[in-house]
Amino acid sequence: MTFLMMIAALWLLFAPDRAAAADNSPHPRTLIQHAALIVTMDPKLGKGPLGTIIDGDVLFAGDTIVAVGKDLSVEAPGAAVVDAAGKIVLPGFVDLHNHLVQSVIRGGCHNRDLNGWLHECAWPAYNVLTPEDVYAAVRLSALDLMGTGVTTVVDWAGGLKFDLSREYVRALNESGLRFVYAPTPRKEEISALKQLHDELIRPNPLATLQLAGATGMQHLSKLTETVQLAREWGVRLNVHLLEHKKQREGEPIRSLEQSGGLALRGNLLVNHAIHLTDDEIALLAKHDVRIAHNPLSNMRLASGIMRLPDLHAAGLKVGLGLDGSTNDTSDMFNDMRAAVGLQRASTLRADVYPTVTDVLRMATLGGAEALDMADHIGSVTPGKKADLLVIDPATANFGPRFDWIGQLVFNAQPANVSFVFVNGVALKADGRFVRAHPTEVVQAAEAAAARVHKALAQTR
Ligand SMILES: [Zn+2]
Repeated sequence: MTFLMMIAALWLLFAPDRAAAADNSPHPRTLIQHAALIVTMDPKLGKGPLGTIIDGDVLFAGDTIVAVGKDLSVEAPGAAVVDAAGKIVLPGFVDLHNHLVQSVIRGGCHNRDLNGWLHECAWPAYNVLTPEDVYAAVRLSALDLMGTGVTTVVDWAGGLKFDLSREYVRALNESGLRFVYAPTPRKEEISALKQLHDELIRPNPLATLQLAGATGMQHLSKLTETVQLAREWGVRLNVHLLEHKKQREGEPIRSLEQSGGLALRGNLLVNHAIHLTDDEIALLAKHDVRIAHNPLSNMRLASGIMRLPDLHAAGLKVGLGLDGSTNDTSDMFNDMRAAVGLQRASTLRADVYPTVTDVLRMATLGGAEALDMADHIGSVTPGKKADLLVIDPATANFGPRFDWIGQLVFNAQPANVSFVFVNGVALKADGRFVRAHPTEVVQAAEAAAARVHKALAQTR
């Protein structure tokens, strides 16, 4: 293929209007060619724990990776070829915890801890949101996530009125991201939630349902009902646990034991889990509970520093999360830096868990393992879904090449993410969003934020 043919093929493939019309169907065959480095996350495919390959190609057919290696060729005529010369290929990031709707209150209550932020910003805003606001905010957050290379997001959408959920899920479905939607199941709305699941979530192969719950003995009866429903529906329970020191007063671990939540084992995903004792870490490990670590949010809300090395030593599966507007940025590179930096700053050791290698794994395969999705995402492995990134390191913040693995964590920014593929479909190509027009998305979010501000002013 000549250079001009390649440019033409790229344009046809990734031009915004065509892609919007093409919807979710991936191209029949795509070859990412001549990547300077592929970080496969699969030690069987390459060197070291991250399975790195120097000068390699990745071939996917439709939504599935079919080959990873050197000098691959595409025989199918009209196959899409992405020239990755000088670039790095990575699996897409798994954001294990977020609240996409919270972008509508970005920067808010910036001198408050978790409780101040919840009572003065988050809950008041939740009370005045309209379906239109939710749609605008979730679209904005989804675009921001794509920008940083997140290909799978777990969205804890608890605490919202049910009449907001259709627009919430519509925005997620339209984003093209792989996602998990976790709403609060209220007794009187169970059949409506089931209908929402059947109509909007089940038909999307990229979408999964979890149920959001609240921990603490004050929520025990509600939590017990949610645990029962999670069992009945065969879905995960997703809760916040010991994010703020004061939450210990509610005996949240006891509430998880008594509600049957801990007995869900791998089907229980807990967020934060900062203020744990040794016995509690052992208990969570015994029950194979999955954990989302949100270092940027924990810094922003003065929540504390997770005992991540101890959780890892206990064998717990811990992934990384961005946690919504509470960190005010969707930057997975920044999140990885914070996860490494917090442990180094608190232990005065540069070899403490997670190392750079560990945190890259946490942000990709680690998140997939925590969701039991590692059979189809989390690494650049033949047979898995084509959720992957092409990173352009030739920028002032990233170059020059010295140790790219270190540079991915300490230097990269969302602007270095050149291509984002989810299920074989390009959502970002040559640094530009394929399916969405950022100006329009930002303007709609501005209008939503203005409405929220006005509604909040009227309630004060
Ligand atoms: Zn959260």
